[in-house]
Amino acid sequence: MMVVEMCCAPGLEASLSGLRWGLSRIFAGLGIDWREAPPRAVGTEAMWRGSAAVRMLLGDLAPAVGAGVLWVVDCPLADGLHPSLAGATLGRVAVVSARWSGEGEVLSVAAHETGHLLGLGHCRGSCLMHPVTTPQGARRRVLRLCSGCRR
Ligand SMILES: [Zn+2]
Ligand SMILES: [Zn+2]
Repeated sequence: MMVVEMCCAPGLEASLSGLRWGLSRIFAGLGIDWREAPPRAVGTEAMWRGSAAVRMLLGDLAPAVGAGVLWVVDCPLADGLHPSLAGATLGRVAVVSARWSGEGEVLSVAAHETGHLLGLGHCRGSCLMHPVTTPQGARRRVLRLCSGCRR
């Protein structure tokens, strides 16, 4: 069983509980133990031109041994190329921005990054692991793994 610890910035607790419900349905049957951590402020070290520099932030959010960590933060995420990223995953840490889009797309982004936490890459099928670059794309993306990715 894999543990995914869900963490959020203060003020996002309600959306974290909603995400947990949605994610546990999407990944049902894959043996994931979802846990919610108390909210905690992040990103001050990694703040960069009003956004969190995503590589720095991922480095700051090192997980407990054996767990994957899914963070939902309330700041925009940026890297050198993109001023606004939906989310990113590095190793066992995934981070999702609640600022990238509306509430409706956060589940799609969180589920996609969770797929990366599980070791999945991108997929061109009708699949959660299909990459998107806009909130509209996230809204249209299906909320399930294709049979190839689910294996
Ligand atoms: Zn991706
Ligand atoms: Zn797929």
